Amino acid sequence: MRARGWAVVSAAIAVTTVTTAGAWQVGSADASRAKVTVVGSGTATATSAKGGDADRPHGADRPSPRVTPDRPVPVPTSPPAMDDRIPAAGRTIYLTFDDGPDPRWTPQVLRLLKQYGAHATFFEVGVHATEHPSLVRQVRQAGHRIGNHSWDHSDLTKLGPTALSSQLDRTATALGQPLRCVRPPYGAVNKTVTNAIHSRHQHVALWDVDTRDWSKPGANAIAQQAISGAHPGAVILMHDGGGDRSQSIAALATVLRNLHSRGYQLKSLPTC
Ligand SMILES: [Zn+2]
Repeated sequence: MRARGWAVVSAAIAVTTVTTAGAWQVGSADASRAKVTVVGSGTATATSAKGGDADRPHGADRPSPRVTPDRPVPVPTSPPAMDDRIPAAGRTIYLTFDDGPDPRWTPQVLRLLKQYGAHATFFEVGVHATEHPSLVRQVRQAGHRIGNHSWDHSDLTKLGPTALSSQLDRTATALGQPLRCVRPPYGAVNKTVTNAIHSRHQHVALWDVDTRDWSKPGANAIAQQAISGAHPGAVILMHDGGGDRSQSIAALATVLRNLHSRGYQLKSLPTC
């Protein structure tokens, strides 16, 4: 590692202040961006609905998250060139689950995936991972991959450098093991966020099929979104946390049955 050109940013002073009650409805608006940056397969998903998942404003019903130990984090002044695209892999689909882990929903997702021999990627929120470390272990032990979905579901594009570093690094500490990918909440990225992620030698991992399960349109509608959007290399967005995910669970059973019968292999994201 070159000593020159590296700045040391201390995460110690980077305790964020964004856990205001109501500021975050988990999973409610990952899809609210008008345009989602393409990952890999060449189509962008345009969405316009607003989040309706107001039943669980973050911070309203939970104690303050534990603050993880801080240590200086080296950040290169110019990030390395990293390719976030998913390499083509034949008839493969990548299911992804955001906003967990959640003790009610995550185990149900794990059971269904196991039933079909499927692997997926879980983009977990640091606060929840800290509250449920055994679930983080379960996900990993079942052979799935875990990515960083920020500490408390903040829009990373709205943060200064210290808060941004904190969102990335506290979560990485909470999730354990070297993390290889980050899914910024709401799919919100700009050059600063992308550079911060790449400077940690991690990939930006977005999606191209939004099931819109966060809007609770019914299990059938969720399943249809996934099934009709399925194509080789598709990255499908669902949620295993952040509210009542009973519709997502019911839909997942249908999605897995359908994709399995069409000969798709379900794998974890290779960039994670
Ligand atoms: Zn999310």
